[in-house]
Amino acid sequence: MADLVVTLNAGSSSVKFALFAAEADWPRLIVSGAVEGLGAKPRFRVDVVEGEGSETKLAGKLTYRQAIAAIFTWIEEAYPAAAISAIGHRVVHGGLRFAAPVIVDAETLAALREFIPLAPLHQPHNIAGIEGAREAFPHVPQVACFDTAFHRGHDFVDDAYALPYSYYERGLRRFGFHGLSYEYIARRLRMIDPIHAEGGVIVAHLGNGASLCALKGGRSIASTMGFSALEGLPMGTRCGQIDPGLLLYLLQSDGMTPKKLSKLLYERSGLLGLSGVSHDMRALEASQEPRAQAAIAYFIHRIKMEIAALATVIGGLDALVFTAGIGERSARVRAGVVEGLGWLGLTLDRTANARNDSLISAPQSRIPVFVTPTDEEAMIARHTIETAGLSDAAR
Ligand code: AMP
Repeated sequence: MADLVVTLNAGSSSVKFALFAAEADWPRLIVSGAVEGLGAKPRFRVDVVEGEGSETKLAGKLTYRQAIAAIFTWIEEAYPAAAISAIGHRVVHGGLRFAAPVIVDAETLAALREFIPLAPLHQPHNIAGIEGAREAFPHVPQVACFDTAFHRGHDFVDDAYALPYSYYERGLRRFGFHGLSYEYIARRLRMIDPIHAEGGVIVAHLGNGASLCALKGGRSIASTMGFSALEGLPMGTRCGQIDPGLLLYLLQSDGMTPKKLSKLLYERSGLLGLSGVSHDMRALEASQEPRAQAAIAYFIHRIKMEIAALATVIGGLDALVFTAGIGERSARVRAGVVEGLGWLGLTLDRTANARNDSLISAPQSRIPVFVTPTDEEAMIARHTIETAGLSDAAR
């Protein structure tokens, strides 16, 4: 029987988990689920690939630690501890040190804690997941898979800020995020369109968090996210590109504290801040409010600008891929982006786009445009299997 691997992915208001069988060519999903709505009305959802799913409402608010404990209790009841061979964790920040997945020991865990100030919204939850898993399954290897690792090979010009060089040496660099998603998409594209996958590709990961990644030959060359997950595109509640002079102004003239500024930039800005309606693209698309429509227009505008900039970095575009919640399901955002980039050689097939087809460019389009669901969980499982040395393929 194949080894079983659990993956854990703590997001901003949910903890996702999945159980995979470690098969040689690619992990096979058995069960996925999540504790969602942590802050307000938590619920425990389980989707069984071959069987019945379920959804249970949980009482009151839940902390991350409680959500993680609930997940491990469920797994232990459904699958005896002895059956679990490894647990893989999505960890947002690996700093300069981790350019590949790693088996977590006490020293690694201490190093991961040092990155908390670099990703204050996510890293503490990721670490809570690892600690909870070590308690529940003390003899099972825990593998940390980093969102920054895929981007660690960037050239100096795509890695540095123009601060004094000593800041670069200290590690104040453009790390980039969403790496597990981009790595998965790069692999998928090699199967879908192996010829274009070898060229210059831009992937638009457009979800609550949003960024773009420029790939060449399947490797990350540049990304719109930088030192933190605030840079680049506007997001659900994050500001994206901003003039640092404006931040100085807020600190100096508005008497803002760093804490208030952080809340403003991470939680009150982006689509929510601009629209005053919602952080959620579905709600904005349904809204009659002019500001909701202006927020969508701003989002599309910034995506077009950044695609053009990244196309320059990789010396021209051979394919564009949309992924994540908005990228996979918002025909309106995709149409705005693709039709606004006609000059670059993109032509939209409106019917295919309205259907969320996997290929949404017209036959005459010089550059193909794909819609591809991302699967960070499968990528974590794959890394976990390889790093823990479980599959025949990894030996
Ligand atoms: P993610 O973070 O990848 O789960 O993506 C969440 C974002 O995807 C939210 O802004 C959702 O409103 C958006 N989204 C999900 N489904 C749709 C849809 N059918 N149309 C437009 N946006 C959607």
